[in-house]
Amino acid sequence: MTRAAACPRAERSRRIPARPRAIPGHGRLSRCATRALVILTTLLAATATATAQSVEIPSAPAASPAPGAAPAPTAAAPAPAATAPVPAAATPAAASVPVTLRMGAKGQAVKDLQREIRRRGIKVTVDGAFGPATKRAVKRIQKRFKMKATGVADAKLLKRLGLRTRTAAAAPATPAAPVVAPGASPYLDVFPVLGDYTYSDDYGAPRHQGAHEGVDIMADRGTPLVAVTAATVNRLSRTESGLGGINIWLERADGTEYYYAHMHSIADGLAEGGKVIAGQVIGTVGNTGDARYGAPHLHFEIRLAGSGPTDPYSHLVAVDPTARTQARR
Ligand SMILES: [Zn+2]
Repeated sequence: MTRAAACPRAERSRRIPARPRAIPGHGRLSRCATRALVILTTLLAATATATAQSVEIPSAPAASPAPGAAPAPTAAAPAPAATAPVPAAATPAAASVPVTLRMGAKGQAVKDLQREIRRRGIKVTVDGAFGPATKRAVKRIQKRFKMKATGVADAKLLKRLGLRTRTAAAAPATPAAPVVAPGASPYLDVFPVLGDYTYSDDYGAPRHQGAHEGVDIMADRGTPLVAVTAATVNRLSRTESGLGGINIWLERADGTEYYYAHMHSIADGLAEGGKVIAGQVIGTVGNTGDARYGAPHLHFEIRLAGSGPTDPYSHLVAVDPTARTQARR
């Protein structure tokens, strides 16, 4: 009988103590909240930076309202169309984004750019349309400033020309990296590993203890692990314990359980019965337990209430911000 799957299977018999859940103290809660805030803030900053790079300045001023028409809401600039859903948490409230002007851009910012280039003796028509002639002019001014002649007016060049380098983000801009749509997976809100990783669908793969009941996500030792959803810490072991080594079980309100095994460490402040929020760092990748002679990785399982393990692979892909899908084994 294929009892005991790979790394953590043996853990199962001992998991989930049927003990009443402790109510976390306020002290711990607020510490958690603070940590979460720090993490969120860092993420937001990173998102804003990544986002900014592909942002074009909004083009074409809004048409003036017809006489007698109700005054249009005075948005400073037309919002660039959002082409990908952005999770609310990743949208900075009042962010500004760097202006980058390139071929195809139109509007006042292009006009200002052309005027400044022209003022410096490089011939270009000030028409507010960034075409091939403007691109050539931008290249010339970049060469003069000993910058890389890209023909794209980035924040650095605009600053050098004394122009506005940032603009208010009127709407979520098109992100540079794929962003996971909210609700992409019914079980995961975020990917469990932060940083570089690789994985494949090795759920069900034969292991010496039986069928593999999770997916192994390979990552360097010390890579942060985060809670995939808001949950309660059901059980954790900060010391080597059985096949799973240092491991943690989370349980969502609907009874779905999440198992993280072979960890290097568990975050300070986490305790059984405590709450975590999605994206909160709960520990780091390691190779404890029966992975001790192997490469560091996260053994990750999803267990549905009342029915046991399910293949986490498609859910991981659904919330993988890099959409780095690997070939099936
Ligand atoms: Zn595994």
